[in-house]
Amino acid sequence: MTSLDDLPIRDDLRGRTPYGAPQQAVPVALNVNENTHPIPEDVAHDIVARVAAAILTLNRYPDREFTALRRALAEYLGHGLDASRIWAANGSNEVLQHIMQAFGGPGRTVLGFAPTYSMYGLLASGTGTTWVTAERDGEFELSAETAVAAIAEHDPDIVLLCAPNNPTGTPLSLETITAVADAASGIVVVDEAYFEFAEPGTPSALTLLEGRPRLLVSRTMSKAFAFAGARVGYLAADPAVIDALRLVRLPYHLSALTQAAALGALAHSAEMLGMVDEIRAQRERISHRLAELGFRPFRSGSNFVLFGGVDDPHSVFEALRARGILIREIGLPGCLRVTAGTETETTAFLEAIAAFAPRTLAGTENRMGS
Ligand SMILES: *Cc1c(COP(=O)(O)O)cnc(C)c1O
Repeated sequence: MTSLDDLPIRDDLRGRTPYGAPQQAVPVALNVNENTHPIPEDVAHDIVARVAAAILTLNRYPDREFTALRRALAEYLGHGLDASRIWAANGSNEVLQHIMQAFGGPGRTVLGFAPTYSMYGLLASGTGTTWVTAERDGEFELSAETAVAAIAEHDPDIVLLCAPNNPTGTPLSLETITAVADAASGIVVVDEAYFEFAEPGTPSALTLLEGRPRLLVSRTMSKAFAFAGARVGYLAADPAVIDALRLVRLPYHLSALTQAAALGALAHSAEMLGMVDEIRAQRERISHRLAELGFRPFRSGSNFVLFGGVDDPHSVFEALRARGILIREIGLPGCLRVTAGTETETTAFLEAIAAFAPRTLAGTENRMGS
């Protein structure tokens, strides 16, 4: 049998492991931060009609510039953006890949603040970019001083700011983002994959774009928008950045079906985002209840909660999986991550996790202490 090691694979890919969040059919899947509410049926019907119409012209290549989609995304984002400042791809992962292809590559570095989104390192290795990380402050926060010091130390070609951060949920202040944009000599990407789950009134990094041509803000339809299966991510930046990304994308990278489906979803954005308030409420419920049980939930501006105080994360993960509840082991000692699901899913999780509580409700320690 041939193994990977027998192949003339690139040296820098030897020994790497692929992205591998478990994909399993379980009754309660709260492991990859999807919106667990299904798409509203009337929206689904409109999307089907648009996709059906697009099928009739699949003999032709799709609009390479996905102009209608870029217009719709600009309108959704607001902030005075227009289509010339919008990019999109098959998931924001592909958007990030385009950024690394255009601005990273061999001999260049990309800086992130660990622990952060595991795909950043994988996208770096796939594009031959060196991935360097700096530590966060206590409680996974990231102050302007800490971030700026890391930029001074590494002088990276690209800085990736995950706001709020995955897997910790930590919101990121505009103060830190502004300081990073001022300090960095290269590209600064703010990954706002979970932005719609932030407290209402939280300002987006989109408000900082004007006059900052090296600042890029990426978003996705995978999370709040309940559209993970369609694979649509996007970005707002200076038109010159969009021109740079055109150099590296594959021609016609967004299929006509993807464009039609995304346009259908965006035409119903209010309905598609209709469950966001409810998901935020379930997130708050998770944090509150986990604290009551003696776990240590971290501050979250996303649709998931990272919590510490878990005696043996792997055995808790397995025990919940045996009950049909899939959450996420992320390799942080004493920690697990759970996505806020529907009320029923969230209840199932909270009932199951109570058996592993560090303290009983009377407040006495019954397992591992604080
Ligand atoms: C889920 C996620 C994404 C989105 O990935 P898609 O490719 O758009 O599905 C991007 N960034 C972070 C931090 C995420 O957690």
